Amino acid sequence: MAEEPAVIGDPVLRLSEVGKGFHGTTVLDGVSLDVPQGQFVALVGPSGAGKSTLLRLVNGMHLPDSGTVRTLGENPAACSRSRLRALRARVGFVFQQFGLVGRLSALENVLMGSLATLRLPRYGVMSYPRALRIRAVEHLDRVGLADRRFQRCDTLSGGQQQRVAVARTLLQSPELILADEPVASLDPAASVLVLEILKRISAEDGISVVCSLHQMELALATADRVVALRGGRLVLDEPAAGLTAERLREIYDTAGARDG
Ligand code: ADP
Ligand code: MG
Repeated sequence: MAEEPAVIGDPVLRLSEVGKGFHGTTVLDGVSLDVPQGQFVALVGPSGAGKSTLLRLVNGMHLPDSGTVRTLGENPAACSRSRLRALRARVGFVFQQFGLVGRLSALENVLMGSLATLRLPRYGVMSYPRALRIRAVEHLDRVGLADRRFQRCDTLSGGQQQRVAVARTLLQSPELILADEPVASLDPAASVLVLEILKRISAEDGISVVCSLHQMELALATADRVVALRGGRLVLDEPAAGLTAERLREIYDTAGARDG
């Protein structure tokens, strides 16, 4: 397929009438969404609503069956392998399960965020360039963990591990961060802290964040905008400021009734 040129002035992310299914089952149906630079979008919806599938479409881990995805001006479906790799390096991904190497230190885990671009085997902190080590510590400082940099990740709390994962993503200098239920396995206090850190980074650095969450209260407290998926369809897309948890649930239940 021919590569399309990047279009300047595109939103960071644009989904147009995106449909996706697996084995004949529709998972996303006609989803359209524009995300401008610097916005923190909470993607809410119950388990199975299609949140992870949507996030995977954004960085080309899945390709849509219908409609189009444009991420940072690129269409993942029309990208060559190398261009897709380059695109993914511009998109940070934070997972529920952190994805850290437990026996390595916080600092080593953060440094691993550079491997996608360095593409060299690295053994130990000192094998990374000095400038990179300095940046890695700065990112750990931003998530409040500079003093834990030499601690093994498997001895950190869940919330601390997720903050290390955020710092690792920052080392990539992402233009967009996708977070798939980043706080689903954390206690309430740690959840709030991780989301506050993501929100601050988004605001300070002008990085767009699309963060799936299943707790509506957390979405309302953190996000600029709340997008709700239900049964693969987008049933709500509104600024968080005008929403209450009650209203969100009401819209949800009405959409559910419509689904039959
Ligand atoms: P959520 O993240 O909101 O819980 P998902 O996007 O993970 O929802 O899943 C939506 C639906 O798509 C589920 O029914 C799930 O079983 C199905 N699904 C997701 N990924 C795959 C896959 N790779 N193969 C088959 N079915 C999948
Ligand atoms: Mg999911």
